[in-house]
Amino acid sequence: MDVCFHCPTCDRPARVSVRTAIDWRCPTCDHRGRFKAADPALPCCVVCGNAELYKQKDFPHWLGMTILVVACIASVLTYLWYEKWLTWAILIGSALIDGALYLSVGDAVVCYRCGAYYKGFKPSPAHRPFELTLGERYRQERIRSEQIRQRGQNSAPGAR
Ligand SMILES: [Zn+2]
Ligand SMILES: [Zn+2]
Repeated sequence: MDVCFHCPTCDRPARVSVRTAIDWRCPTCDHRGRFKAADPALPCCVVCGNAELYKQKDFPHWLGMTILVVACIASVLTYLWYEKWLTWAILIGSALIDGALYLSVGDAVVCYRCGAYYKGFKPSPAHRPFELTLGERYRQERIRSEQIRQRGQNSAPGAR
């Protein structure tokens, strides 16, 4: 039960175990936070308290792409060498490896709002796959809060 997130102050990536409640201090900016022990059903994000989370495969995107690219290059070469059967073997083999990897990896749960990434949890039926409309709503929210923060920074010296 690990959560990967970005420090709310300096954006540094961090990873903590939330099996039990934990006090966390950012090694870069000294930001302190306290995380409650995560409920195994993970009804809400322990980092920001948001209740809208989605699930996705805990599968590194680059690995899938690497398998695909290597298989493509290899099959083009074998095709040029008139190794028809080898070409098919590579294409089908890579698809099988990709599929097997996809099925063997577990799920991860991600927070729409802060992007906290939870590993080692069993997603409950409440965790749906990513929905674009929801993702877009949170993206707009992030842009707005970023604008507000910048406006606040610009006016801060005069205000104080
Ligand atoms: Zn920090
Ligand atoms: Zn969150």
